[in-house]
Amino acid sequence: MVEIYNLIDNILNSGVEACVMFKNLSEELTKALQEANYVNPTKVQELAIPQMLQGKSVLAQAKTGSGKTAAYLIPIIEKEEQALVLTPTRELAEQVANEARKLGKYKKMSIGVIIGGVPYSGQDKEAKKDIVIGTPGRILDLWGKGYLDLSRFSVAIVDEVDRMFDMGFIDDVRMILKNANPDMYGFFSATVPEEVESLAKEFSPNIEFLKVDDIKPVEIEHLFYEVKGWRDKISKLKDELDDNEKTIVFVNTKKKVEELYEELRDDFEISLLHGDLPQRVRLRNLSSFRRGKTNVLLSTDLASRGIDVIDVTKVINFDTPRDVETYIHRVGRTGRMGRKGIAITFYTRRDAQLILKIKDLIKGKKLEVQ
Ligand code: ADP
Ligand code: MG
Repeated sequence: MVEIYNLIDNILNSGVEACVMFKNLSEELTKALQEANYVNPTKVQELAIPQMLQGKSVLAQAKTGSGKTAAYLIPIIEKEEQALVLTPTRELAEQVANEARKLGKYKKMSIGVIIGGVPYSGQDKEAKKDIVIGTPGRILDLWGKGYLDLSRFSVAIVDEVDRMFDMGFIDDVRMILKNANPDMYGFFSATVPEEVESLAKEFSPNIEFLKVDDIKPVEIEHLFYEVKGWRDKISKLKDELDDNEKTIVFVNTKKKVEELYEELRDDFEISLLHGDLPQRVRLRNLSSFRRGKTNVLLSTDLASRGIDVIDVTKVINFDTPRDVETYIHRVGRTGRMGRKGIAITFYTRRDAQLILKIKDLIKGKKLEVQ
């Protein structure tokens, strides 16, 4: 139970607080920050950036949505480091790469992405860029084939360390870090259980542990609608969807994503996301949604963790999530960065028990419940 509460804290809270301005940074980076509209650093940025600018390794814990990506990218870009960034998923690698392109634009830092599920061709070139971002499996793969020189990196970042453990990537991560042997490490994670801390200490015994916990809750309005079956759900969903409102619709299976898409495609512009789509299609669809070419994303739980699209105003659980944890992750896609969000969950009588449990938990956290 305690874990679930921690999880709620991690997901439902945003970490942005207006503090000091970004200062003493190069002209090129300052310009990129201005264009990104980053005026004040977030808490984790305020703590991590000065340390890393001095070349100190950090282990940073801050909630989802608190700006961890820029916390490590800003010092890397400012000092024009050769850096390796490990992320647990391909989507996150792309997301980090976009942020790096944005912030590294005027420093003319080259950005490479190395992820599985795409062809090898061209990845030898990616492997030579200043900042290389990728998933552990393919990084090791390219290193093994001699295309990636791990020893050239002066900085190594492990993003979402807790998820690296959850997903069983930690041996790969360890192998990569051993062979990279950089001058500075950054471990970034929403939660820091024992194993994460000892991994960081294994590579950097005197690492600074930075922790951000004074966070204001985000506002999410939780609504629960009882439904009678497929047709009833479709018609209620159609009532809720609006092409002008950025919405993620979650269903429980890949097959359902396709079936629902057939029902909706005539009336709405929709992007699809599930694990059976080829990687390049997944990236293209996610990018259309992020850029607002489509405003509805129809997805399995693939999109429920880590994906950050700032202006998602609504999450609709077309299928009741399988458990409370999944619910928390899904609804955490809205209400990002202190904006208001709405989470709507369809349920049938069969799911009533689970819905009660969810309502209880949300009430315990004094969030709005309806
Ligand atoms: P985390 O990795 O901690 O979950 P992200 O790095 O994905 O968080 O950042 C969440 C959102 O905050 C992104 O949309 C990012 O563009 C935005 N962001 C990051 N830093 C700042 C800042 N200093 N000012 C305003 N927005 C920011
Ligand atoms: Mg992140």
